Amino acid sequence: MTTQRIIDFLANERPDGPCLVVDLDVVRRNFQHLAEAFPATGIYYAVKANPAPEILALLASLGCCFDTASVAEIEMALAAGATPDRISYGNTIKKERDIARAHALGVGLYAVDCVEEVEKIARQAPGARVFCRILTDGEGAEWPLSRKFGCHTDMAVDVLECAHRLGLNACGLSFHVGSQQCDLMAWDKAVGDAKKVFVALGDKNINLSMLNLGGGFPTRYIKDVPATMAYAEAIQAAMTRHFGNRLPATIIEPGRGMVGDAGVIKTEVVLISRKSAEDEARWVYLDIGKFGGLAETMDEAIRYPIRTPRDGGETAPCVIAGPTCDSADVMYEKTPYALPLSLQIGDELLIEATGAYTSTYASVAFNGFVPLPTYIVGGESDAALAA
Ligand SMILES: *Cc1c(COP(=O)(O)O)cnc(C)c1O
Repeated sequence: MTTQRIIDFLANERPDGPCLVVDLDVVRRNFQHLAEAFPATGIYYAVKANPAPEILALLASLGCCFDTASVAEIEMALAAGATPDRISYGNTIKKERDIARAHALGVGLYAVDCVEEVEKIARQAPGARVFCRILTDGEGAEWPLSRKFGCHTDMAVDVLECAHRLGLNACGLSFHVGSQQCDLMAWDKAVGDAKKVFVALGDKNINLSMLNLGGGFPTRYIKDVPATMAYAEAIQAAMTRHFGNRLPATIIEPGRGMVGDAGVIKTEVVLISRKSAEDEARWVYLDIGKFGGLAETMDEAIRYPIRTPRDGGETAPCVIAGPTCDSADVMYEKTPYALPLSLQIGDELLIEATGAYTSTYASVAFNGFVPLPTYIVGGESDAALAA
């Protein structure tokens, strides 16, 4: 959602080079929608989606909790005002000394997906609460998460039994149905799988109390997506179908759904050219590409809406590429993108719904291009962040 405040900021400040502008009032609205749709569920913002300090501080002030993947992200959440009891260390792949540092900072909730990780936590964070991540197939997601995280349900039973034996609090399970998940039924199978593990452990007198439903809540790109309330209703139905009236506590970990539509990238057309006199396709080169923050265009997975100053006229298919000297730096080629025929070198475009997974994916200075700067508008004051 490109708000008037973002348009005004770009018109007045005229920042040079590509940049991301985030409107905090959209983040606030997204949090409120999630909180209304999931009133009895803990909301843990996935910090990696966009860790701008203003976003974290706003969410902390609204009572949000934080899902983190590293000591640095834990420190960012603490600096934003979150207390350690509102932080989970949700990465299943942690160095033992980072677990020790998280424990020293007061974090008491950890993700695992194998016995080896449980052993590290038992040594470095004795008595901590641990939840085991189970595999999902990621079907229906536009940015699926592979087999990298999670274990089979049979193994989850062993993992949590081991945690219990080693003096940890084996508190529950987690899964992630894949990012930008537009199939409301995706949660049903995962909740059903989770229920089997709850029963198997209950038979061993280990009573789990928490189910972490992960992220996957979408941002509207080009196609419409179901409303937040539709997700809440589908998930509630899945919980009741599988757990009856013995419902565990629940957590969600929205990343994209919290910040995706709160940000817009301003970019400039550097070059428009063709490969031969006969070739129809125009190549449009922008001053941002895969290495400048648009990594999720990999395999053309995420297709962002693009606004030009010449919208409304006749369009033709274009290949859209970035400015670096890496030939992988092409965003849309297999499925070309319709842009106005009147588009000119030097035109400024808006790549919309880019608040999530952009600034964090920008390379440090590939070919000398600086990492994507973020500007924050809305909230109390307009503040520019250093690049
Ligand atoms: C990235 C991540 C999320 C956020 O996923 P979205 O699809 O952006 O909501 C949630 N949980 C974990 C463990 C993650 O790694």
